[in-house]
Amino acid sequence: MSTAENHNPAAATTTFAQRLDAVRARIDRACAAAGRDAAEVTLLPVSKTFDAEVIREAVGLGLNRFGENRLQEIAQKAPLLSDCNVQWVVIGHVQTNKAKEVAKYATELQSLDRLALAEALDQRLKAAGRTLDVLVQLKTSPEESKFGLDPAELVGFLETLSGFETLRVKGLMTMAILSDDRAAVRACFKKLRDCRDEAARLNIKGISLERLSMGMSGDLELGIAEGSTEVRVGSALFGQR
Ligand SMILES: *Cc1c(COP(=O)(O)O)cnc(C)c1O
Repeated sequence: MSTAENHNPAAATTTFAQRLDAVRARIDRACAAAGRDAAEVTLLPVSKTFDAEVIREAVGLGLNRFGENRLQEIAQKAPLLSDCNVQWVVIGHVQTNKAKEVAKYATELQSLDRLALAEALDQRLKAAGRTLDVLVQLKTSPEESKFGLDPAELVGFLETLSGFETLRVKGLMTMAILSDDRAAVRACFKKLRDCRDEAARLNIKGISLERLSMGMSGDLELGIAEGSTEVRVGSALFGQR
């Protein structure tokens, strides 16, 4: 793990505070362009691959939720930041055998994509006597490499999840196709919103679909244009990985 300054020549000329201001300005501009209130869009800083001292600096600027994609990395950093009241948000693919670590460290999981993981989490959360906020990750792009539930299975999955008392469904998450074609990226975000709107009409008991986590450093404007309530931003804040 290394700091932004080691990797990104551009970042070396700016401070974390300046990059944070710049990202917030992008969010504000995108909200204004979409006729939305900037207070509707949350920034989730994605600190994966950056070390605890960088996160500590971000905490000093008032951030306290951080997105990470590996449980092992959270387990390394959490003890070093035990005085910081950090909330860890898991955004990456989780193996079923890592459910125990999710229950131990995570305040939230945005990458719930299958029943086997929900069952393992439910068991571990019950044992820990706690609940977990979750977003269901949908696969909105045709890329083989992308994780996520098939959108056609969303309603059935939500109906099953409504039976798990430990899992509090708050919305949906997706990663767009990796492409320079902005229309193709935007179509992924539109797909997520359409799936949400359709499922929300069913009013499934105990299921909230208010949150849409979509948009990253390269495409947060497109996510906001399509109704994102949360953008997950790594490199634009922390530097290249
Ligand atoms: C790494 C990651 C991000 C942040 O990506 P950047 O392009 O660095 O902003 C967002 N979401 C997920 C699921 C990620 O793994």
